[in-house]
Amino acid sequence: MDIDYQSLIENIFDGLYLVDKDRSIIYWNRVAERITGYRSEEVIGRRCRDNILVHVDQDGNNLCHGRCPLQATIQDGNFRDAEVYLQHKDGHRVPVWIRAAPLHDTAGNIIGGAEMFTDLSANNAITTKVNELEKLSFLDNLTQLANRRYLEMELNNRISEKNRYGATFGIVFMDIDFFKRVNDTYGHDVGDRVLRAVARTFTNTARPSDLMGRWGGEEFVGILKRVDGDGLRSAAERVRSLVEKSHIRDNGLTLKVTVSIGATLAGQTDTADSIIKRADTLLYRSKENGRNRCTVG
Ligand code: GH3
Ligand code: MG
Ligand code: MG
Repeated sequence: MDIDYQSLIENIFDGLYLVDKDRSIIYWNRVAERITGYRSEEVIGRRCRDNILVHVDQDGNNLCHGRCPLQATIQDGNFRDAEVYLQHKDGHRVPVWIRAAPLHDTAGNIIGGAEMFTDLSANNAITTKVNELEKLSFLDNLTQLANRRYLEMELNNRISEKNRYGATFGIVFMDIDFFKRVNDTYGHDVGDRVLRAVARTFTNTARPSDLMGRWGGEEFVGILKRVDGDGLRSAAERVRSLVEKSHIRDNGLTLKVTVSIGATLAGQTDTADSIIKRADTLLYRSKENGRNRCTVG
């Protein structure tokens, strides 16, 4: 049987890259290009720890220095897997499941490592959702998230559901810190790119039952179903830390932003207005306390 292995590996459903013992990238398949936004010629010869994908774990810890699963695999020859967030070339975070495997020469010596990764961000579901929202004018065109009108409608639905069935939910209210400075320093177009990247990271941390949308300007709201206080806190903290650990490149400049968050659970007597007001007040407290933080109440 004649199998075209090269094209199989190029187009296999998962991203795949190979590194030598130094973790210099020696191979990068097409799916890796699609998931990360980096073309093969941009990354071959570079070391993966040189701020390309900047893997961070669920708690926002950077894995590239000291805790890289691929490096550990190259050292001990064991297979490993982990769920991490990689950084897309456009600056947003993408959840991926990675598997690291050692590469051997014919004599059995380890000469490098292979990393396979699967996109966990449910891109297909997101595309379907975008098309649906667009048809109904519920789409924010800049970020491709739900717009405020849709968030308000969903919020009212959640309130009715809570009153009728006692279903709890939580709100995450997020605002980019010092965003005016980004526009003033780098221009409105770069500002728009930052908004898109933060928006993608925001939706990429969500579960399928959550709704993340743009409230207006540089403000975002997430409505999280079936969540308790701890879950809400960790969801908010995850977005905050992922945004903090991401960056956007523009003409050789590396640009970073942070976000402040207010998060709260729906209470017995809450209305759509009262819960948003409370989240906004908590957000304001995060700003007052120094920004780049979450206040949950
Ligand atoms: P703070 O940390 O207190 O939130 O400071 P800030 O500068 O982020 O707050 P402020 O509300 O003063 O600034 C928000 C800025 O967001 C002002 C506005 O020009 C900008 N902005 C709103 N919508 C858009 C947009 O669609 N694109 C771009 N590029 N900028 C936008
Ligand atoms: Mg604002
Ligand atoms: Mg702001």
